[in-house]
Amino acid sequence: MSNRILVVEDEKKVASFIKRGLEEEEFQVDVAYDGEEGLYMGETNPYDLILMDIMLPKMDGLSVVKELRKRDVHTPVLCLTAKDAVEDIVSGLDAGSDDYLTKPFAFAELLARVRSLLRRGQKDRGAEIRFADLRLDPVGHKVWRGDKEIELTAKEYALMEYFMRNPNQILTRTMIAEHVWDYTFDSFTNIIDVYVNYLRKKVDRDYDKKLIHTVRGVGYVLKED
Ligand code: CA
Repeated sequence: MSNRILVVEDEKKVASFIKRGLEEEEFQVDVAYDGEEGLYMGETNPYDLILMDIMLPKMDGLSVVKELRKRDVHTPVLCLTAKDAVEDIVSGLDAGSDDYLTKPFAFAELLARVRSLLRRGQKDRGAEIRFADLRLDPVGHKVWRGDKEIELTAKEYALMEYFMRNPNQILTRTMIAEHVWDYTFDSFTNIIDVYVNYLRKKVDRDYDKKLIHTVRGVGYVLKED
C-alpha cells in the first residue's frame, strides 16, 4: 500500500518538483496551493504525512497545523521553512508540527525526513503504557496522571512517549534529539531543555511525587524515587 502525502506549497515550481520526486518514489501526492485549501484537504483526506510550507497565502502554515491539531487531525507534519532561527523552529514545533526542513533543501534530505516520519507514524500503534501513576495511550496520543488527563502538544507527547518507553534509563540530550526530533545539532539542546520544562509543568508541578528528574550535565530520567 503506498503512502498518501499532501504537499501544501504556494510556489508552483517547488510544489511540482516535490510532487514529481515523491511520485517517482511511489508515493501518492496531492498538492494544495494555499493555507485554506491545505486545511480543508488535510482535514477531509486520510493522509499519512503533510509537507507544509510556512509562508502561504490566505492562512500561514503554522496556523494550519494548529487548526488541524485542534480538529483532532494527528497526521505527521513536516514544515518547510525559509527561517532557521531557533525561536521559529520552536514555534513551528509548538504549533504541533513534527519536524522541519529549511529551504533550500536537497531532495534526498526531504526524502529521508519523509521516510523517517512515516516509519515513526507506523510504530506509534500499540498497547497502553504505564509507569507509576502515568498512563499513555499510543493510539489516541493521550496521557493521564492518576485520573487526570494531561493536555500535551504533539511534540510534548512525543517526548513523553519516549520517556515512558524508556523508564529508569538516563536519556541524554543527544538520545532525545535523535529519537524525538530525528537528528542532532548543538542548538537543539536548548530546545530539549525548553520542552522538558514544558512537560514538567504539566506532569510534575502539581504533584508531590516528581517523576522527571535532571541528571546534571547528562540529561534526564523518568523514575520514582
Ligand atoms: Ca511559500
